[in-house]
Amino acid sequence: MTSFRCPACRTSVYIESLGCPTCGREIAYQPDRAAFFPLDGGTVVIDGKTWYPCGNRHWQCNWLAPADGGSGLCFSCRLTRRRPENDDTLALERLADAGTDKRRLIAQLLELRLPITPFHEQEGGLAFDLLSSHSGENVIIGHANGVITIDLAESLDAHRESLRVRLGEAYRTMLGHFRHEVGHYYQNILCSDEEKWAECRELFGDERASYQDSIARHYRLGAPEDWAKAHISEYATMHPWEDFAETFAHYLHITGTLSTAAAAGVELRESGVGGTREIEPTGVYREPTVDRLLDDWHWASFMFNKVNRSMGARDLYPFDLVEPVTRKLAFVHRLVLAADTRPDV
Ligand SMILES: [Zn+2]
Ligand SMILES: [Zn+2]
Repeated sequence: MTSFRCPACRTSVYIESLGCPTCGREIAYQPDRAAFFPLDGGTVVIDGKTWYPCGNRHWQCNWLAPADGGSGLCFSCRLTRRRPENDDTLALERLADAGTDKRRLIAQLLELRLPITPFHEQEGGLAFDLLSSHSGENVIIGHANGVITIDLAESLDAHRESLRVRLGEAYRTMLGHFRHEVGHYYQNILCSDEEKWAECRELFGDERASYQDSIARHYRLGAPEDWAKAHISEYATMHPWEDFAETFAHYLHITGTLSTAAAAGVELRESGVGGTREIEPTGVYREPTVDRLLDDWHWASFMFNKVNRSMGARDLYPFDLVEPVTRKLAFVHRLVLAADTRPDV
């Protein structure tokens, strides 16, 4: 991830920023360049192509939309298939919150050079149904045939936290939901031949096992006692599909956080963390093995957990990466490297 800066005064800004806190300029993000541009005249010209602020800018979307795109919406907003009604302002506020997490997801998928085919270009392409169970609709978070459904009510802290506690989860966030569900989408796309499926089954189990039976069993009996010996979470034990999606989500957690640390120039000294070498996260890991990535993460997550504890907060990364889980992550890493695509945004 590049270090995001105000294009006018070079102040460091957040990926969500609509304006520069130092010079006060309005700024907008261009996803292909992964950089900010000033909105001085309302339009931005990049390599001879004209861009406008996304039509959802009043709902906090800070991305640019191509002038010839027709919809007036950015790449991320165009992936939304269903959303709350225009008069449902409470749900639209939740939509704006979830949109921030969705853009972070899409920016990361682009950084990792993963393919994104929108639903409006191809049957089974990627789509988001962003709906709120608080608006009287029955909304179940999940993925089916490219469509990711998200319950916007989960952007309410009280609602999401009560679910997290009830389900005994160490971590539950809107970004985590997006990363998990997109894992289901990518399993079908990146496991492109029989050889990859064979390896997938060996690592995660046979995905042809009945999903309905698995759900029933999971909610009746819970995860097996020894779930942590080979799984990243209790939920991952439910079905091979869920194990893959959980693993994929963790791959995004790890690479996303290391990418941010790398952009900020974070380095960990051997003497400070007790490692065997200086840790310099590179942000993007294109080596065929996952070893360097996981070693960087081991020490970086340990440091970030300490930082969180010094604020009285829960650990940033409350998970253990045991050997069977690292083999699953290595498989995901190889799938991601093999994809190497640059979607047209
Ligand atoms: Zn500035
Ligand atoms: Zn947008």
